[in-house]
Amino acid sequence: MATIREVRIDAAHGIVVQGWRSTEDGLFLRVRGQPEEVRLVCVCGRSHWIVREQFSLGSASLILICHACGTRGSFVMEGVTLPAP
Ligand SMILES: [Zn+2]
Repeated sequence: MATIREVRIDAAHGIVVQGWRSTEDGLFLRVRGQPEEVRLVCVCGRSHWIVREQFSLGSASLILICHACGTRGSFVMEGVTLPAP
Protein backbone atom coordinates (compact mmCIF):
# COMPACT_ATOMS: atom_id res chain seq x y z
CA MET A 1 0.00 0.00 0.00
CA ALA A 2 1.27 3.45 -0.87
CA THR A 3 2.49 5.72 1.86
CA ILE A 4 -0.07 8.32 2.78
CA ARG A 5 1.20 11.87 2.64
CA GLU A 6 0.13 13.95 5.58
CA VAL A 7 -0.11 17.67 6.13
CA ARG A 8 -0.61 19.21 9.52
CA ILE A 9 -3.26 21.88 9.81
CA ASP A 10 -0.75 24.35 11.23
CA ALA A 11 1.55 23.79 8.26
CA ALA A 12 -1.18 23.96 5.66
CA HIS A 13 -1.68 27.70 5.55
CA GLY A 14 -2.29 28.96 2.04
CA ILE A 15 -3.01 25.68 0.32
CA VAL A 16 -5.72 25.67 -2.34
CA VAL A 17 -8.11 22.74 -2.16
CA GLN A 18 -9.44 21.28 -5.40
CA GLY A 19 -11.37 18.44 -3.87
CA TRP A 20 -11.87 16.49 -0.68
CA ARG A 21 -13.24 13.25 0.62
CA SER A 22 -13.90 12.07 4.12
CA THR A 23 -13.06 8.44 4.87
CA GLU A 24 -12.76 6.29 7.95
CA ASP A 25 -9.02 6.90 7.71
CA GLY A 26 -9.51 10.64 7.88
CA LEU A 27 -9.94 13.58 5.60
CA PHE A 28 -8.11 13.59 2.28
CA LEU A 29 -7.54 16.71 0.23
CA ARG A 30 -6.58 17.29 -3.36
CA VAL A 31 -4.30 20.28 -3.22
CA ARG A 32 -3.20 22.48 -6.11
CA GLY A 33 0.38 21.71 -7.09
CA GLN A 34 0.46 18.34 -5.33
CA PRO A 35 0.38 15.19 -7.44
CA GLU A 36 -1.17 13.06 -4.73
CA GLU A 37 -3.88 13.44 -2.16
CA VAL A 38 -2.80 14.44 1.30
CA ARG A 39 -4.37 13.56 4.59
CA LEU A 40 -5.04 16.53 6.80
CA VAL A 41 -3.86 15.96 10.36
CA CYS A 42 -4.79 18.09 13.33
CA VAL A 43 -2.40 19.46 15.93
CA CYS A 44 -3.86 16.80 18.26
CA GLY A 45 -2.80 14.04 15.87
CA ARG A 46 -6.27 13.08 14.69
CA SER A 47 -7.45 13.45 11.13
CA HIS A 48 -11.21 13.44 11.41
CA TRP A 49 -12.85 16.74 10.67
CA ILE A 50 -16.29 18.22 10.47
CA VAL A 51 -16.32 19.67 6.97
CA ARG A 52 -18.47 22.47 5.66
CA GLU A 53 -18.32 24.13 2.28
CA GLN A 54 -19.06 27.82 2.35
CA PHE A 55 -19.91 29.77 -0.75
CA SER A 56 -19.88 33.51 -1.00
CA LEU A 57 -19.83 35.79 -3.99
CA GLY A 58 -17.26 34.44 -6.39
CA SER A 59 -15.38 32.26 -3.95
CA ALA A 60 -15.65 29.04 -2.05
CA SER A 61 -14.09 28.00 1.22
CA LEU A 62 -13.68 24.75 3.07
CA ILE A 63 -14.35 25.15 6.79
CA LEU A 64 -12.95 22.46 9.06
CA ILE A 65 -13.41 21.67 12.72
CA CYS A 66 -11.49 18.86 14.39
CA HIS A 67 -13.77 16.18 15.80
CA ALA A 68 -11.43 15.54 18.70
CA CYS A 69 -10.23 18.93 19.93
CA GLY A 70 -12.22 21.57 18.08
CA THR A 71 -9.31 23.15 16.24
CA ARG A 72 -10.58 25.12 13.27
CA GLY A 73 -9.18 25.73 9.86
CA SER A 74 -10.30 27.10 6.54
CA PHE A 75 -8.95 26.84 3.04
CA VAL A 76 -9.74 28.39 -0.30
CA MET A 77 -11.34 26.01 -2.77
CA GLU A 78 -11.07 26.30 -6.50
CA GLY A 79 -12.69 24.45 -9.34
CA VAL A 80 -15.69 23.68 -7.21
CA THR A 81 -19.09 24.01 -8.78
CA LEU A 82 -21.51 26.22 -6.95
CA PRO A 83 -24.58 24.41 -5.66
CA ALA A 84 -27.72 24.80 -7.68
CA PRO A 85 -29.98 27.57 -6.35
ZN1 LIG B 1 -7.67 18.08 16.91
